[in-house]
Amino acid sequence: MSATSSQFDAVVVGAGVAGMYAVHSLRQRGMSVCGFEAAAGIGGTWYHNRYPGARCDIESVDYSFSFSEELQQEWTWTERFATQPEILAYLEHVADRFDLARSFRFSTRVTSAVFDEDTALWTVRTDGGDEVVARFCLFATGCLSAANTPDIAGRDDFAGEAYHTGEWPHRGVDFSGKRVGVIGTGSSGMQSIPLIAQEADHLFVFQRSANYSIPAGNRPFGETAMREIKENYAQRRREARSSGGGSPFTPYPKGALEVTEAERTRVYDEWWQRGGVLFSKAFPDQLSNIDANDTARTYWEAKIRELVEDPSLTEKLTPGDHPIGTKRIVTDSGYYQTFNRDNVTLVDLRESPIDAITPGGIRTTDREYELDVIVYATGFDAMTGALNRIDIRGRGGRALKEEWSAGPRTYLGLGVHGFPNMFVLTGPGSPGPLANMVLGAEQHVDWVSNCMGYLRDQGVTTIEADSDAVEAWVAECNSLAAKTLFPGANSWYMGANIPDKPRVFMPYIGGFAVYGRILNEVADEGYRGFTLAAPTATATPTATATATATADRAAS
Ligand code: FAD
Ligand code: NAP
Repeated sequence: MSATSSQFDAVVVGAGVAGMYAVHSLRQRGMSVCGFEAAAGIGGTWYHNRYPGARCDIESVDYSFSFSEELQQEWTWTERFATQPEILAYLEHVADRFDLARSFRFSTRVTSAVFDEDTALWTVRTDGGDEVVARFCLFATGCLSAANTPDIAGRDDFAGEAYHTGEWPHRGVDFSGKRVGVIGTGSSGMQSIPLIAQEADHLFVFQRSANYSIPAGNRPFGETAMREIKENYAQRRREARSSGGGSPFTPYPKGALEVTEAERTRVYDEWWQRGGVLFSKAFPDQLSNIDANDTARTYWEAKIRELVEDPSLTEKLTPGDHPIGTKRIVTDSGYYQTFNRDNVTLVDLRESPIDAITPGGIRTTDREYELDVIVYATGFDAMTGALNRIDIRGRGGRALKEEWSAGPRTYLGLGVHGFPNMFVLTGPGSPGPLANMVLGAEQHVDWVSNCMGYLRDQGVTTIEADSDAVEAWVAECNSLAAKTLFPGANSWYMGANIPDKPRVFMPYIGGFAVYGRILNEVADEGYRGFTLAAPTATATPTATATATATADRAAS
């Protein structure tokens, strides 16, 4: 993209699924867009997370764009849960097909975004020296994009190789003949561990908290299966949009405690076969009633006992600190069986915590583990991390980071009081990571794009979330979360994985479809809860006419 023009209708930060679709949608409306992406290419999550075993945990046919019927008909997924290379290839195909890359400046990190009250424009600056002005600022910076490498004593003294799963080198990593330590047993750790174990001389798994994982039940798509899915795609998407989690599945019509044991087992069997994260949605009360949850946990424990040969290991691999599903259930391929291998050792950090990282490896309170490679599968500063790493300033120079010092405060997850014309995509206060995030990105972008079109047509210059609407939305999010078992877990949903981060349940947990209905109602009621303001003398409506803007329109 040309760097010569500096005024746009919108800046989009991030080129993951949300930023990609935002650029496409706004260009379709004839708006000029400038995208920035810190990475060297498109894909977001799927650009950065190249560790062995990385896959989606929502079926590929659902975890993909629905906005173009041609696109979904022409792309053929090879398996139920696609690997990272296949998902990245798909996103690159989407970028090529809709000519998205020309609107992005890659390898460019946005460092600040400042709202000017006089002109009602945002000024966005980057680490590459760009200074761009835009009426709207869309943050598509991702809720799992700010990698968290814990500040363990001696971390930087390690003499071997060290990698974070979320910043994996493109050349790949050769583990053969090496002593490897993986710290972390969330989804990234549990997905990579089976493959690293196959290659390494010896693998030490440093587990602080055991997690619940369920086999993916992955399988290749035959031609017939894929053809049937494509024939019924429209219906499948309708079901996904009217569901709680953005996938075409609805829980059993009765609660786990309202059915006989035989019926319950039959339902769990069925959902176990579906694989992975979906298991937490078998019964509608599973995540709100601890007794119902216990039935799922008991079923899970019996299944895992069948997979691990050493009963003392099974015990260590069984979580005892949170109800099943209140941290995202992992979708694995052969994780538990990996502990039956001779070259794999589980190091239980609850028994002997890490004391320090040394030049030679990891020292726990028990002993030192000599290592050639350390893999940090230690997750992300989720939901707010990427935003807080940017100096975002709204009215009166107020910093977003300070506004959110006690936890994120949004209206609908989209708008923040004091930050006019700024939209956050799939972030805190929205279903975000609790639902299929590709459909979530579409839901948000469609709403924002329609809203921007409406504002343009009405000659409105600014839109800003009202403070009482934010107050009410935060209260609604908290009250919904309080009715569930989620706040009881030390999860990244709660900010519990980052020292000193406020403990607040960050996503909206009322369900994907319900949330979509609320978004529609708000728009239908003239953007209830937002204040829409007409232009002032200095703030002219958005109609930038730079050379690039014109070229964008012509090409879109
Ligand atoms: P991202 O894909 O995270 O993209 C954000 C982009 O913004 C990044 O490329 C980042 O470099 C860029 N960025 C951030 N800050 C700046 C800045 N200051 N300047 C410039 N650029 C910046 N969700 C599901 O629904 N199903 C799944 O199966 C699933 N699997 C996942 C697997 C992994 C390994 C991970 C980590 C997450 C997974 N998720 C999954 C969640 C996933 O993050 C979302 O599905 C989705 O990809 C997020 O898209 P996004 O565009 O919102 O953000
Ligand atoms: P995560 O779930 O936050 O897991 C991080 C792991 O690192 C946890 O086991 C954590 O232990 C451990 N850890 C963190 N700091 C540590 C420390 N100082 N010492 C020891 N252990 C430490 O992160 P993630 O695995 O990257 O997954 C994050 C999210 O990304 C997932 O929940 C999911 O939404 C998404 N994801 C999805 C897939 C997929 O299957 N499609 C794959 C990867 C990621 P504690 O639990 O004790 O904090």
